[in-house]
Amino acid sequence: MTKEPDILLHTYPWHQDQWHQVSQMIRQKRLPHALIIGGVPGLGKLTFAKRLAAALLCQQGEISDACGQCKSCQLLAANSHPDFKLMQPEESGKAILVDQVRNIQHAMATTAQQGGARVVIINGAADLNLNAANALLKQLEEPGDNSFFLLLHQWPKMLLPTVRSRCQLLDIIIPRPEQALSWLEEQLPEDDGNPRATAEKLIALANGGPLKALQLHASKAHELRHQMLVQLTAILRGNASSLEVAQSWHKQPLEQMLKWWIEWINDLIKLKMTGNTAHLANPDIIKLLQAVAQRSSIKAIYRLLHRLTEQLSFINQRRNLNNQLVCEELLHQWYLLVRSDTSL
Ligand SMILES: [Zn+2]
Repeated sequence: MTKEPDILLHTYPWHQDQWHQVSQMIRQKRLPHALIIGGVPGLGKLTFAKRLAAALLCQQGEISDACGQCKSCQLLAANSHPDFKLMQPEESGKAILVDQVRNIQHAMATTAQQGGARVVIINGAADLNLNAANALLKQLEEPGDNSFFLLLHQWPKMLLPTVRSRCQLLDIIIPRPEQALSWLEEQLPEDDGNPRATAEKLIALANGGPLKALQLHASKAHELRHQMLVQLTAILRGNASSLEVAQSWHKQPLEQMLKWWIEWINDLIKLKMTGNTAHLANPDIIKLLQAVAQRSSIKAIYRLLHRLTEQLSFINQRRNLNNQLVCEELLHQWYLLVRSDTSL
């Protein structure tokens, strides 16, 4: 694993073009007061935003990247810069609340304590609830002198139009495969026999986001996904029972597993409806999907999809579930899928 570079100047090779763009804007003093930084998970949007915040707050006026030396840079590195705020949901999976926005409003209404810029990063702008988004609007309309809002969002087009129209958009682009693969290969442990093949698999699973791919590797998620597919295939073939598989599943990260399963079922529906394999999100399992599509009815597929999404929302609401029972029931429906009447 490579050493973490200085937090203020931390950067990834695929940030280069966008960084060039913003650093020019800083130099020419035409960086917009509200910027949406968009891009799929795993591209390092927060890292990019922090570097930008550091550059804006740095007291070495002449440069377009933080100096790392001045008082402002030191405060920021120590996580105690009074004119820098990072706003994100207080708990993962929860919304950003209107009170959090009001606290920021209050802080932004006073003079910058270090006499320079003030920067707010909103990590997970998708998680602003409606009240919070409305409270933010006023801030975006009248940001005040030398104040900057950096909103991070996976799909900027899905932000409220009222918020979006007050911001300029900067997309962090998915790196070219060659760049993503060579970066990821460097991060993988040396004992991996075929780092290129592992990296390719991980990048595909992570939809192109190299950091997401690395995270998947660290959590051994790709192995879990592979194991799931082996077990689901065994159930279809009658080589494993739903009960057995449910017993091995119920202590696994069920939320992640249901998300994958839902993705596979969505691919299955696409395949069943169009017969086209070109736009599937999981091209590595085409054969399995084709076999299931041929032998199942669309009605049964939708019924399973409905149950899966319902269970996922129960998990998100932290309802107490008997995971083993839930898994068993879902797996039984999966078993019945290829035994459903395909004429329906
Ligand atoms: Zn500095």
